[in-house]
Amino acid sequence: MKNLIIAGSTGSIGKNTIEIVRRNPERLKINALCAGQNWEMLAQQTREFEPEIIGIADERHYDSLKMELHDCNVKIVAGPEASAEVASHAEADTLVAAIVGAAGLKPVMAAISHNKNILLANKETLVVGGDLVTRAIREKDLDLIPIDSEHSAIHQCLQNSQAFLQKIIITASGGPFREYTQQQMQEITLGQALKHPNWNMGGKITIDSATLMNKGLEVIEAHWLFNQPYENIEVVIHPQSIIHSLVEFTDGSVVAQLGWPDMKLPIQYALSFPERWGPVIEPLDLVKVGKITFEKPDLKRFPLLEYAFSAGKQGGTMPCILNAANEIAVNAFMKKMISFNAISEIVFKTMEKFSSETVESIEQLLELDKEARNVAREIGNNL
Ligand code: NDP
Repeated sequence: MKNLIIAGSTGSIGKNTIEIVRRNPERLKINALCAGQNWEMLAQQTREFEPEIIGIADERHYDSLKMELHDCNVKIVAGPEASAEVASHAEADTLVAAIVGAAGLKPVMAAISHNKNILLANKETLVVGGDLVTRAIREKDLDLIPIDSEHSAIHQCLQNSQAFLQKIIITASGGPFREYTQQQMQEITLGQALKHPNWNMGGKITIDSATLMNKGLEVIEAHWLFNQPYENIEVVIHPQSIIHSLVEFTDGSVVAQLGWPDMKLPIQYALSFPERWGPVIEPLDLVKVGKITFEKPDLKRFPLLEYAFSAGKQGGTMPCILNAANEIAVNAFMKKMISFNAISEIVFKTMEKFSSETVESIEQLLELDKEARNVAREIGNNL
């Protein structure tokens, strides 16, 4: 039996995780939940799974949550520290990290310091704090298992062969604007950007997929998860999203993981590892798939992928700057305050204002995250 904390339980990954728990009551128990704002759904989940503690980041919803759950035996915490408190819950052994953005870093670090294994969807945590997180995981001898489909694929391909890994090939769908001209890219609307061709995901990652920043964040995530230099990580566009990623070994053999694009598989894999449980998605029908194709990413139209490689190679605090600027820019695009192409412009100009420093502590990263957000906001306001 795994005892779970689900951080970000009301989001796309959170709800898919809950669905896997629902199907496996004899294997999985939910001890703790937390969310950002959606207190109604958090209350429903609490009634269904009876966790011992729940948290809500937006403290304005504390009273409503408390009133709604007045007859339940559950501790409720609220505010910016709530996710870290929930992630430290003593009864649990595993954190499903499904918060979006750098807000996920603190609960992950809190969970590690309280000896929880980490099942990680929240890639921004590794982008911002990869060094601190992976070091703490090693020191505590805990598991860090990816949920992101590409990294889950790599994890599956690598079993028992990590020592012979030579190259990681991360696939990318290319997003909805893969075939757009430079001219068309200038007129992209929010509605168009929110329509991902293959995956059904939360808003921020859907926009990141459309700009290819998602792939850039995944490159940095892969660097930390699989201990590979950036020179050994390649991104290939594969519009059908059937091959979720590949690894090349020293002898030239390339191994891939395939499946229909559905996050339930990588979530269940992370929860069941090192076992495999029963079917969670339809088996792949290769004849139905028919044709799969590959292309090189176009860094002119999608410069954020290149900026992410550059931030990763500079290392230190630069990925934290990249991520903070991107979170601000994506948020502004989602509020229709800036154009699609302005997202990359804001990220580029913010990165220019900072130089990379050595990562020393989570406090330093959180301070820098705040500073970079302010700079990005100002750049956005002056575009
Ligand atoms: P969603 O936007 O759907 O969900 C985000 C979750 O985080 C919600 O539960 C939200 O709560 C919660 N949240 C936001 N801010 C805070 C906070 N400060 N404290 C506590 N909880 C907070 O995102 P996704 O599920 O799509 O993505 C989650 C993470 O997983 C991202 O890092 C993404 O990159 C990664 N990922 C997602 C995939 C997908 O298919 N969706 C695939 C691979 C990776 P509320 O809604 O209540 O505000």
